[in-house]
Amino acid sequence: MSQTVWNFSAGPAVLPRPVLEQAAAEMLDWHGSGMSVMEMSHRGPQFMQILQEALDDFRELMAVPLTHKILFMQGGAIGQNAIVPLNLLQGHESAAFVKSGSWSSKTIKEFARYGRADVVADAREIKDSSGLRPANTYVPAIAPGSIPAGSAYLHYCSNETIDGVEFRQAPDMPSLGCASVPLVADASSNILSRPMDVAAHGLIYGGAQKNIGPAGLTFVIIREDLLDRARPDCPSAFSYRQVYDNHSMYNTPPTYSIYIAGLVFKWLKAQGGVAAMAEINRRKAQLLYDTIDGSGLYINRVRPSDRSLMNVPFMLREEALNTEFLSLAAERGLLQLKGHKSVGGMRASIYNAMPLAGVEALVDFMLTFEKERA
Ligand SMILES: *Cc1c(COP(=O)(O)O)cnc(C)c1O
Repeated sequence: MSQTVWNFSAGPAVLPRPVLEQAAAEMLDWHGSGMSVMEMSHRGPQFMQILQEALDDFRELMAVPLTHKILFMQGGAIGQNAIVPLNLLQGHESAAFVKSGSWSSKTIKEFARYGRADVVADAREIKDSSGLRPANTYVPAIAPGSIPAGSAYLHYCSNETIDGVEFRQAPDMPSLGCASVPLVADASSNILSRPMDVAAHGLIYGGAQKNIGPAGLTFVIIREDLLDRARPDCPSAFSYRQVYDNHSMYNTPPTYSIYIAGLVFKWLKAQGGVAAMAEINRRKAQLLYDTIDGSGLYINRVRPSDRSLMNVPFMLREEALNTEFLSLAAERGLLQLKGHKSVGGMRASIYNAMPLAGVEALVDFMLTFEKERA
């Protein structure tokens, strides 16, 4: 089957075509078992093998050190906004937060139900050398000494999916004077897009539906000593300790999502792993940002050093052309380019599974559209 559409959805998002083809071929009969993976007991030997390989491959791809455990859970990243405080707040009244966009703001709001949220950096509107920089268009700096010593953790969102703002580096806790405060990242939309210093984090979590697999699966990478900081009212199914002790099967896991994620991990390994993906991702994003910056019609207002390599929001200077842009793009098979309602304009999400050819097709369309309409 030839490629007929390019899917730029922010999530659930495009999956590697060879993965979908393999899943289709194995749909009715997984490896001679006579069953679909969906029909298997999660405690049977076949699914146990699928789960173990997925955990092992994820660990290998992310170079997760043995100090850290990998959990597969449910409830999404939004669920983790409550699950993280329920698991880490024992003995603490507060946590510290970097507010860099829509998703970190949501995390802070939910946290307020459990403790005092100290916002130690906030990407509000500022004046800088480029003029007026709008809110949520840059990674705000954390002033050394601003993180209260008693904080349960420092939370940041490594890639703001809606605003298109990405941290190139994780906050450096030792240089901020709080090496003992665990660093927590929502990495839903840039996990596996590039190497990440897992050891510098106490906890990394995210939903799978951006850069891993189908919706329904949530990953958690957690340093072992943080398994035992839960508040007594933490639900058992969401207790990191319970989930870990039960091999991510305290309750029935999302088996089919784990199976597809496992196929994606194997596909990633065959591509050369995360370092190889990072190189391709850089080229894809560069091509798109160069096109935007070189045009008189398209605009991206994120500070260039903080632009996301995964989610590229852009506006049309003539907003009246938005609808036409989207409908002509769809005619060319360029789908799901409408921006998030809170930001407007367009957004192209170019996760691992989006090949360079898809970005080239988008850029080609953008140039033609500008020439003909603007
Ligand atoms: C998509 C997304 C979420 C929400 O994930 P759910 O699985 O819907 O809970 C949270 N944070 C980030 C960074 C996201 O991209």
